[in-house]
Amino acid sequence: MTDEHISDNDIQQYVLDKPNCTNAIIEHVDICPSCKAKAHIYQLLFSAIKHQSKPIFEFDLAGLVLSCITNHKPANSKATSLVWPFAFFGVCSICAIGYLFGQHLINMFLSIPSISMYLVFTAAITLMCFQGIEMITKYKKKINKLDFG
Ligand SMILES: [Zn+2]
Repeated sequence: MTDEHISDNDIQQYVLDKPNCTNAIIEHVDICPSCKAKAHIYQLLFSAIKHQSKPIFEFDLAGLVLSCITNHKPANSKATSLVWPFAFFGVCSICAIGYLFGQHLINMFLSIPSISMYLVFTAAITLMCFQGIEMITKYKKKINKLDFG
C-alpha cells in the first residue's frame, strides 16, 4: 500500500472497471476510508447519470429543420436569372454555326480517318463513365450524411 491517496482517475477506474485495476489500487480503496468514500460517491454519481432520462427538445426539431430545407431560397438569384439568356444565346450560336458552316463541318468529320473517330469516342465514353461513377458516389455520400434518422 502506498502512503498517498490514489488519484480520482484511479478511483473512477475502480468504480467503472474494477477487474482491470491494479492490485495496488484495489487494496488501497479497500483499506483507505477516504478513498472508499470517494469511490462510493462516484458509484452514486455514475448510477444517477446512468438512470437519467435522455434529454428531449421542447420544440419540434425535425419540423424546424424541414422548414429550413423547403423554404431555402437561392442566395444568388440575380446570377440564376442570367442563365436563361446565356443558354438561349448559346443555342442560337450553335444553330447559326450549323446553318452557316454545316457542310464544312460534315466534310471535316468525313475527312478524319475512322480509327481516330473511334479513339475519340472511346475516350469520351470512358471519361463520361468515370464522371458518372464519381457523381453517383458523391450523391450517395451526401444522402448518407443527410440520413440521420
Ligand atoms: Zn486513500
